[in-house]
Amino acid sequence: MTWLDLPGDTGFGLTNLPYGVFSVSGGDRRTGVAVGTRVLDIAAATGDELHATGSLNAFLAQGPAAWARLRQQVTEWLTDPAHQARIEPLLIPVADVTLHLPIEVADYVDFYSSRHHAENLGRMFRPGSDPLTPNWKHLPIGYHGRAGTVRVSGTPVIRPTGQLGAARFGPSQRLDIEAEVGFVVGAPSQLGTPVPVGDFAEHVFGVCLVNDWSARDLQSWEYVPLGPFLGKSFLTSVSPWVVPLAALEAARVSPPDRDVPTLPYLDDSKEPWGLDLSLEVRLNGELISRPPFGELYWTAPQQLAHMTVNGAALRTGDLFASGTVSGPAKDQRGSFIELSWGGAEPLTLADGTTRTFLEDGDVVTITATAPGAGGTRISLGEVTGTVQPALDPQ
Ligand code: CA
Repeated sequence: MTWLDLPGDTGFGLTNLPYGVFSVSGGDRRTGVAVGTRVLDIAAATGDELHATGSLNAFLAQGPAAWARLRQQVTEWLTDPAHQARIEPLLIPVADVTLHLPIEVADYVDFYSSRHHAENLGRMFRPGSDPLTPNWKHLPIGYHGRAGTVRVSGTPVIRPTGQLGAARFGPSQRLDIEAEVGFVVGAPSQLGTPVPVGDFAEHVFGVCLVNDWSARDLQSWEYVPLGPFLGKSFLTSVSPWVVPLAALEAARVSPPDRDVPTLPYLDDSKEPWGLDLSLEVRLNGELISRPPFGELYWTAPQQLAHMTVNGAALRTGDLFASGTVSGPAKDQRGSFIELSWGGAEPLTLADGTTRTFLEDGDVVTITATAPGAGGTRISLGEVTGTVQPALDPQ
């Protein structure tokens, strides 16, 4: 129970309590927790400078015991009427705040862990051969991305310009999205010491939504043999709220069966961390896809174990993303290249127009919900972006 007047169907009730960074009227950036349609000013509520540093990193670095303590404290403030007089004035309508990038992103890694997505792309790019590469079921494939161009939801998506093929240069004609889920590292690890799958919750603080904007023409020309580069690095958008793992216990599910046995360091059978997150992708307000995150073949603890098995260290603020989330059905695909089958099968929208890839002015919004404690439904908020025309080449 709470002294707050929260609508029963809010995705930001007491079982969620996600963290973000906000400011009011151009003032200092502070840590906040989303509660209903308001933001609790954590810097003011705690009186701790740690929450007035402009990112969540200092708090995340404190580790899981501190995360649990503050979550407990916030819950107490919002439930015990004894705190109402002090706390209520610190709740600011979300409409009055600006939300910022919640973390200072350290390293950014993007995986490729949806079997349906990998098979779809394999069928398009390597027709006639096995849609999955020989390594796919043995390790979670990933690459290191560009941390500096991870930006908060709402950042304009300027159509990238680059090489589209041999002696072809110009604005991308195949601008796409990738609907993904990101995992935020709080507690660092030691160089040289792998992080086992069982230590996932000792290091990872929480989850956000990710749109890995992709220029397919740049990508297909550049990616062999070293992988994604400029086709991905122009912008990666993340949702402003980081939902703590503590809020996702009720969303945990077993991942799909694996038909190739995993090596011991990737064995997650003791403590599965599949997550039943329901994603929705909207183009200009129209629902075009519902990717099911619970279908992912590789889970986040496996990704973390794989990412560090060589001794690579984790830093506070590391972000690793799932890779495009696609389900088995056509309307569960998490990218336009899949939805339009490489451009060969344009989508027909409600207004009768069609799309293969994104046009200038298009708005793409990804949202997600998950089962929360006590039969509630929690929201991961949204990550959105509007496509703007390419800049004039100078
Ligand atoms: Ca991706």
